Formats: sequence, C-alpha cells, structure tokens
Amino acid sequence: MTIDIGSPLLLLGRGADPASERGVSCPGDLPPASDPALVERAHAAKAALGERLFVLGHHYQRDEVIQFADVTGDSFKLAQEAAARPQAPYVVFCGVHFMAESADILTGADQRVVLPDLAAGCSMADMATYDQVEECWEVLEDAGIADDVVPITYMNSSADIKAFVGRHGGTVCTSSNARRALEWAFSKGSKVLFLPDQHLGRNTAVLEMGLGLDDCVVYNPHRPDGGLAADELRAATMILWRGHCSVHGRFSKESVDDVRARIPGVNVLVHPECRHEVVKEADHIGSTEYIIRMLDQAPAGSAWAVGTELNLVKRLADRHPDKTIVFLDKTVCFCSTMNRIDLPHLVWSLESLARGEVVNQITVDEETARYARAALDQMLALP
Ligand code: SF4
Repeated sequence: MTIDIGSPLLLLGRGADPASERGVSCPGDLPPASDPALVERAHAAKAALGERLFVLGHHYQRDEVIQFADVTGDSFKLAQEAAARPQAPYVVFCGVHFMAESADILTGADQRVVLPDLAAGCSMADMATYDQVEECWEVLEDAGIADDVVPITYMNSSADIKAFVGRHGGTVCTSSNARRALEWAFSKGSKVLFLPDQHLGRNTAVLEMGLGLDDCVVYNPHRPDGGLAADELRAATMILWRGHCSVHGRFSKESVDDVRARIPGVNVLVHPECRHEVVKEADHIGSTEYIIRMLDQAPAGSAWAVGTELNLVKRLADRHPDKTIVFLDKTVCFCSTMNRIDLPHLVWSLESLARGEVVNQITVDEETARYARAALDQMLALP
C-alpha cells in the first residue's frame, strides 16, 4: 500500500520542495495504525539492526514512539548524541526536519540520518527561508548597518539559515544559551539580527540583557524592506525576525490569569518561545531541559502550570503523580509536525533499514554543512 500524505505542508530553507516536503509518499508498505503487532514489529526490527542502529527521540514525541528511543533530549543534545555514536551507521531521528539536518551535519560521512516521515517539518523554521534572509541582509546593507550586525540563528532553523549565519560570522544558539550568544555578539558588533524566533530574541534581550522593548524592531519578510524604514533599522539594537513557534505562540496572558484563578498557589513555568506578555507573567522561564529538571526537583504537593508542548507535559504529569502538573492552556495543543512521526512510520523505516534499504535519508550538501558547522562550532565555543 502506498500512502500519499498529500496535504500542502512545509517550506524549508530553499522554499517549497515538492520532491521532498510536500505530498510526501512512503515507498513500500506503511503498516496500518490499527496493526496490533506494531510494537512487536518495532522491537524485532530494532533487535535485528542491533548496534548498527541508534534511535533519537525528541521530548515532544508521542509516547508510542519515544519508548523506542535509545536516548531522549532536546534538539542540540540529540545531534551531539548522534555525533558521539560513530559506530552506528543508521541514525533514526524521531523529531523534525531541522533536527535531522543538524544530526547529518555533525555525524560522520558514513552515517545515514533517517527521518521516519519527511512531512515532519517545523513551522518556525519554515518562517525564515534562505532567499528571504539574503534579501534582509541587502536591506541592512542599503541602510548602511550590515557591518555592525552580528546574525544569530536559533537552533530551530534550516541548515541553509545556519550556513548563512556561519558565512556572516555569527552563531547558532539554543534556548539555554541565548543570553551568552547575545553577550558574545554584542562584544563583536553593535546590533544583532535574531532569526527566526522573535520571542526568544525579545525575551532574552529584554528580560536577561536589560534592553528595552524600544530597542527591538521586527523585520517582516513579507513586507517591502521588512516593513521598516532605514532610520528605524539604524536606531535598533535588536532586529528580530518575524517568526514564532505555533505551539508556544498559542499561550496568552489570559491562560496565565485563568490558571492562577483555578489553582491557587500554582507555579507558572514556561518556555522562552512564548510571547513576551506570557513570559513576563510567569514564575519560571527556561528551556525544555530546564522545565524537566524543575519538575523533577519540585517538592511533592506543589502545583505547576506548564507552557510547552503537550506530549511532554502529559509525560511529566504521569512521571510525578505526587505533584499537580497541568497544561497552561485550556485547549489541547500538540506540535502537529512532531506528531507526524507515529508508530507506523517508525516501524516502516526500521523494517526498511533491516532489509538494507535506506529510506527518507536527510542529507545536507557539503558547502552548506561546512558553513553551518562553523556557526555550530561558534556556539560550542561561546564563553
Ligand atoms: S514545537 Fe514549535 S519550534 Fe518545536 S518543532 Fe514544533 S513548531 Fe517547531
């Protein structure tokens, strides 16, 4: 049976790619989700592959998938874990496309990185395409400020955007080291172009670096010159790309007010990809790994409302039955692209590998990989 996913989905760094990201088909037999033997088949394929296989699982993955991960983590930790396993020729990345690209950049030439469903992209990463960022840089040149600008891209961006940043002497950052990346950038230049998540950029600049909201402008790639006059660009310290995470961007100040009214004494814990108005109201702000640590260390009986992806919040609530852990919003919100990786796709990719057939391999061309690696290396060298 050939499954045609069909829906018009994702743009990557170079724009629409009908061959890989839209209307994705799985060659061969994709098992039906109702197959009661799926769990057994996944175990059997893993056992057959043995040491040749390394399965990575992002924290936002479904339970049915994460149970087969050899290691779980956030995007950067997983890419590093893949690089630390050179003996595994097959790395199956249960996450989204930009993560698999980073794994391909950091792993050896003889390792193959597989994404079980090519439609697992990231709406935030798709909000900054290579051509748009090139055009933005020309706008900065025309305003006479490009030499003063250090570009930083969040890990959640395509390899093309990381390579752009590497070519222009910038760095990658994660939600754990964004402040250190900004401090480093401001030691090299007087302005930062922050891609693609405006919220992480703004929250870090204002709440951790002491900049004002007036020091930030938002560059909108869908408007001529980003919707900004040259004088506005010259006056700004932070030039924020108009991108956001469709999951974390959903939380609102009302979600916080509401949960405080419902659960007296609740601790509000949110990811810095949330909007500024939400982060300002929260008690604790931090990366996915920070959120996990906070809840692991929280005292029994404490209450937490967590503003991050729902699969992770549910898992943490199950892991800590002695604490009250609720999702910050009233409506359900999974990351729909993360959820594309399901058990049928995992079984299909593992069984294909066990037959010696490499499916859905993610590759980054050598030149892009070289510059992207330069930006990633700069991140690792941050003081
Ligand atoms: S949670 Fe947000 S940033 Fe992460 S993969 Fe999903 S859309 Fe992208």
